[in-house]
Amino acid sequence: MRILVQKFGGTSVADLECMKKVLVRVKRGLDEGYKMIVVLSAMSGETNRLLGLAKTWSNHPDPAELDLIVSTGEQVSVGLFTMLLKDAGISARSLLGIQIPVTTNSIFTKARIDHIDDEKIKSLLERYDVLVMAGFQGVTCDGRITTLGRGGSDTSGVALAAAVNAELCEIYTDVEGVFTTDPNMCSTARKLDKITYDEMLEFASMGAKVLQIRSVEFAKKYNVPVLVRSTFSDAPGTLVIQEDQQMEDVLVSGIAYDKDQCRITIWGVTDKPGIAASIFSPIAEKRILVDMIVQNTSRDGHTDMTFTVPRADLEQTMEIIESIDTEIDPTSVQHDLHVAKVSVIGVGMRNHSGVASKMFDVLRKENINIKLISTSEIKITCLIDEKYTELAVRALHDAFGLDKKVQSVCEEQ
Ligand code: ADP
Ligand code: ASP
Ligand code: MG
Repeated sequence: MRILVQKFGGTSVADLECMKKVLVRVKRGLDEGYKMIVVLSAMSGETNRLLGLAKTWSNHPDPAELDLIVSTGEQVSVGLFTMLLKDAGISARSLLGIQIPVTTNSIFTKARIDHIDDEKIKSLLERYDVLVMAGFQGVTCDGRITTLGRGGSDTSGVALAAAVNAELCEIYTDVEGVFTTDPNMCSTARKLDKITYDEMLEFASMGAKVLQIRSVEFAKKYNVPVLVRSTFSDAPGTLVIQEDQQMEDVLVSGIAYDKDQCRITIWGVTDKPGIAASIFSPIAEKRILVDMIVQNTSRDGHTDMTFTVPRADLEQTMEIIESIDTEIDPTSVQHDLHVAKVSVIGVGMRNHSGVASKMFDVLRKENINIKLISTSEIKITCLIDEKYTELAVRALHDAFGLDKKVQSVCEEQ
């Protein structure tokens, strides 16, 4: 059985007209002889609406109930689209996360997939040509509804593709693929034909929401080829795959930014072995992603700890710091919401120097102050004032010549 997975994001299922375009894509897959798994997001704006609704009822919505509420967005999409398929005479069935089931852990609002019943899906595919599955949602082993974090339908799509050994997982969205930077921010952004899993991981973790990071982790782990493309055009899209020689020759693939971060500084904690563990272990236990961490040099047996967390997790992080107050004994704790991360990403950086200094130079010329720096083998990130994000992204995109197709060494020979 040849299986194709197609995932459609919120803008692709926003209304009837959009869903008709989705129908065309699904029919094409059927004409090519595939059994189809179609994974849908909630209709555009619906998840935000449901989150807002919950917050008008409660200042601290219970996470388990929040998941129950927001998961309904996807339920509506799959019901509506399956009706369209049936009206078109296509044999189709709708499935929620709980019906598949997609089993997850019980970290509500950011659950992780533990298992997908692939045998059940395959046997359903013997009976139906198209299975329309709700993205973003799962169920704990004791039957509670969970969701996979914002953008989690991407992860549903790739995880389902991995589970049933699909030939390809197509991610349909409102842009034509993965670009050198957000095309909605920089008009000279260029679509990439292909990108490595590692680069895409950096793009996703540094804020390029075109793919959720967990989806890329799944794709890399199970070697699922992922094609990011537009629901609204026939452009060929971007293939996310293993690295090849040609890709290594490209120094910088793109610029990512993330305005959803905040910076926390804990001043004057006692500088003793285990202090970092005392702070970051309870934060990690709550599955809060700490990204940039800087510890100052010690003065009089005390030090300062600065780090970034997603803005949505600020309140919970501050509560955790409060709860360990006697243990770490800080002089004060401060946070800054008006920060953004800007990152330069490329596998070619592994073997080349000078990218960091060029990045710092570009920011200096624009008079943008750097608040924190972090690096990996294939990425350099600077934390800056949020109001300079667009300026920084455009200046870096320009300075690294990303609007022009870089000829790799192999192509030139
Ligand atoms: P969907 O609802 O289809 O899941 P998302 O809004 O989650 O779509 O992701 C698509 C958006 O990601 C684009 O509209 C674009 O603004 C943004 N984006 C950020 N960085 C990039 C990038 N490097 N390439 C493509 N899109 C990007
Ligand atoms: N509907 C969810 C969200 O808006 C999941 C998704 O679209 O991928 O985050
Ligand atoms: Mg998305």
